[in-house]
Amino acid sequence: MISENQSELIRDLHHVWHPCTQHKDYETTPPILIERAEGIYLQDRQGNRYMDVIASWWVNLFGHNHPRLNKALTQQLEKMAHVMFAGITHQPAIDLADSLVALSPSGLEKVFFSDNGSTAVEVALKMSLQYWQEKGESQKVQFAYLKGGYHGETLGALSVCGLEIFRGKFEKVLPSHLPVEGPDCFRCPYGLQRESCNAECFEPMEKALGENSDTLAGVIVEPLVQGAAGMMMYPPIYLKKLQTVCESLGIHMIFDEIAVAFGRTGSLFVCGAHDLRPTFLCLSKGITSGYLPLSATLTTDEIYSAFYGEYDDMKLFIHSHSYSANPLACAVANETLKMLTENNFLESLKPKIATLKECGKQFEGLNGEFRQTGMIAAVELVKNNKERHPFEKRIGYQVFLEGLKRGLFMRPLGDVVYFIPPLVISEAEIETMLNTAHDCINAVLR
Ligand code: PMP
Repeated sequence: MISENQSELIRDLHHVWHPCTQHKDYETTPPILIERAEGIYLQDRQGNRYMDVIASWWVNLFGHNHPRLNKALTQQLEKMAHVMFAGITHQPAIDLADSLVALSPSGLEKVFFSDNGSTAVEVALKMSLQYWQEKGESQKVQFAYLKGGYHGETLGALSVCGLEIFRGKFEKVLPSHLPVEGPDCFRCPYGLQRESCNAECFEPMEKALGENSDTLAGVIVEPLVQGAAGMMMYPPIYLKKLQTVCESLGIHMIFDEIAVAFGRTGSLFVCGAHDLRPTFLCLSKGITSGYLPLSATLTTDEIYSAFYGEYDDMKLFIHSHSYSANPLACAVANETLKMLTENNFLESLKPKIATLKECGKQFEGLNGEFRQTGMIAAVELVKNNKERHPFEKRIGYQVFLEGLKRGLFMRPLGDVVYFIPPLVISEAEIETMLNTAHDCINAVLR
């Protein structure tokens, strides 16, 4: 007799195709049937709890099942679930656009809504390309991107992704852009430290932009943390240098803050915290604190005005999504922004960030690196001399399995075990999270 739980899992295996998953792994470790989620914990049908240390793919800020967010959602639901967003507007979207403009660096004045991170990037790329056409510079059709960069997995976003694992199988159909060697602080080719360097590694980017400025529409980066590459962290000076060169050469600077905005690095936006002025700012993930899919591409009046004119001129931006600016998602996003900006919430992260740093010291004895930017932390596990473990050993996956036994839901990126917990995690829970992860790693490596 199979249990109810097993029969659900059998039905799952029959019909569901999960994202980024080798389904053969499910023969030995099926997906966990989560039935409730509360605060920073997920609970399966048997009542087992798992700490959601990666905030459900980096989206959750205030914990699951939050009364204020639930209320914002249900209040909006009673009025209107969804309406199209061309020829129609609504209060939740107007409020959200207002707040995003007020909270982001000055100069970003216009907000285009869509419904996932990859699309926020597609929109920025398309707006940049069309801007140059409208300005009579139609030779500007290329984007520079970092070799460790990740910006989503639709074909346009993939074309500016530097990671072979995501793009390899699709290479033949991807438009060719300009990959550039980027920062790799753990394996710094200049032998420098990220805390004290002058981003000497900006050299290849400076050269690439200088040599290709005629054809470059823009450059796209993940500010401070290259997430999917394995939480590769680099200093803000790199971005300052990028801004100087982009401004002098007339190249759009696209900041993909989809993973790092809304408190993850300790501030609301990386660009705001470091006095940077991107031409495009892409946002998603934390924007609804993990409740509903929503994204936004912010840009300047200069970009917007290039699209403004008589209908016959056909300058309009032809890009439409059925669920653009979904009112439910906008209502939750408005509440999320209130919660992020009231009662010194971001200040309250400081002791948590200090605890992460302190507890991270326990990883110093391991071969590898513990690194941290704000509320994001990672442990890269390597052999001697920073050499990677053989791919087939799947160290990260084994750490994941150990985590399940101990009540931690992790999902390492290769052999990088990382932590992006909901921001409401307590200091005691941070200690538990890192101590338990340390036990898991030891269990695998011993
Ligand atoms: N850009 C970055 C930096 C991301 O981390 C992600 C998602 N991991 C995306 C874009 C794509 O977002 P989505 O999965 O919502 O399409």
